[in-house]
Amino acid sequence: MRTKDSNSMMNELHHVTDLLDAYALGALEAYEVAQVEAHLELCPVCRAQAEVARAIAQQLLLSAPLVAPPAGLKAKVLARVHAAAAQDRAVAEAVAPTSVAANAPDKPEVTRRRTMLRRMLDTMLGAEPLNTEDPVAALLLKLLAEPACEVWSVAGTKDAPKNAAARFVGVPNDREGVLITAGLRNLAPDQAYQVWLLHDGKPEPNALFRVERGGRGHQIVQAPTRLRDFEVVAVTPEPASGSPAPTGPIVLMGALTA
Ligand SMILES: [Zn+2]
Repeated sequence: MRTKDSNSMMNELHHVTDLLDAYALGALEAYEVAQVEAHLELCPVCRAQAEVARAIAQQLLLSAPLVAPPAGLKAKVLARVHAAAAQDRAVAEAVAPTSVAANAPDKPEVTRRRTMLRRMLDTMLGAEPLNTEDPVAALLLKLLAEPACEVWSVAGTKDAPKNAAARFVGVPNDREGVLITAGLRNLAPDQAYQVWLLHDGKPEPNALFRVERGGRGHQIVQAPTRLRDFEVVAVTPEPASGSPAPTGPIVLMGALTA
């Protein structure tokens, strides 16, 4: 049993990034929730990531047409997620560690995070037809359902507000992705945020987007070649019509590691 001692500060400073998606979906065990919340009180970096995870979870919930009252649906979804998580643990314990290591180079937390997100999608899509009226939601759902889907963390830089953060969702072998932001400043009407994909260190101009209240935005990114050809995704404020090369400071940046 862990006690509050001189080491507790160190423990709490271990980032909890890998638990935040499951946390946003209410899919963690009670002891994990306590661990995450203790850390969030101390860590602005993880608080920002938690805000993005909430935005993604909300996007997923909003993208399914809600026939039943939202609270009822959410409870049902979470119950299914909990049951699925218990099942996953049982399966994971039954599988020999060596065979898991051979097939899954990812950290278990990362694999679980993806499993949670996909399980939630399956639950919703199984119950209701996909709301194709929101192209961003439709693409996000499609991407998250792909086994090779990655959810890359994109961090706010020193030129962004403290709570700025984003996720970039995409399949490395495909060209399309969705960037979901939180905590960005609202820009003047003659400005927009521009996405850049860096190839061999050279930023290539991509989509323009604006943010809503809370700095929330979501934008489809169409890459000229496969996403795996790019090392970094970045965002800068630019004139509303966009720029051929970045002129504003980088406010969001993340490595597109496989
Ligand atoms: Zn942290």
